[in-house]
Amino acid sequence: MKWNDGIQCKVMLTFDFDAESLWISRNEQNLKKPGTLSQGKFGANVGVPALLEMLAKHDIHSTFFIPGWVAENYQDVVEKIMKTKHEIGHHGYLHEWVDPENPEKEREVFVKGLESLEHITGKKPVGFRSPAWETSENMIDILLEYDFLYSSNMMDAINPYRTKRNGKETSLIELPVQWMLDDAPFFLFSINGPSRPIFPANHVMEIWKEEFHAIYKRGGLFNLVCHPQIIGRPSRLDMLDNFISYINSYPDIQFVKGKEMACYYRDMD
Ligand SMILES: [Zn+2]
Repeated sequence: MKWNDGIQCKVMLTFDFDAESLWISRNEQNLKKPGTLSQGKFGANVGVPALLEMLAKHDIHSTFFIPGWVAENYQDVVEKIMKTKHEIGHHGYLHEWVDPENPEKEREVFVKGLESLEHITGKKPVGFRSPAWETSENMIDILLEYDFLYSSNMMDAINPYRTKRNGKETSLIELPVQWMLDDAPFFLFSINGPSRPIFPANHVMEIWKEEFHAIYKRGGLFNLVCHPQIIGRPSRLDMLDNFISYINSYPDIQFVKGKEMACYYRDMD
């Protein structure tokens, strides 16, 4: 399948800029552990600036999903992301994992994160990626209520689709994700478990190349999820740089932000 505009494969490079919130949401005790939290600080201090430089070199504009707490604590970094014309998406407040048993809390943190991002960026985000992709039955209703264009949380498809509510299609577009196209399963290490061995960057690039090639052959969307605190290490950054060059070696590809992908899909319906 080729897209109607002649593009064989649309490519989204997305970055979940979690900073320390990833560790705080796992365990509040981590607030007292500067060493643990420094893994998140790395994303803000080193990862994001290095990514912005690399993306500018390739003239690519991407989407950064940011928790409200991170935007509040790293306003200067958020400004840099906005200045370089990347999209900012909603990623919770303090990276809270959705608890389906507590819908009030889910709504509360959604609104808190949204207000914070609106206040700091001066713009309402139109895309939502739930922390750890955990969602609930209520999520689509909340996103529709707040007039979101898209979400990027589900693993039930490769290409975009309209979400359904009570059997009926809604205006909310889903841009699907998958663990194999995420840097965390290969590189995110924890001494407290559950953890995994750290993979060589080239091994991960092989997996991503294989999947890109196979999606390209069929035509569709390639949606990559990375984290500045993880992909920002020098060897991994070089790997991503090389991977972008690899994608660029294919004809009829197009790098798109989440908003562009969702708008395109919505309008071609
Ligand atoms: Zn995240």
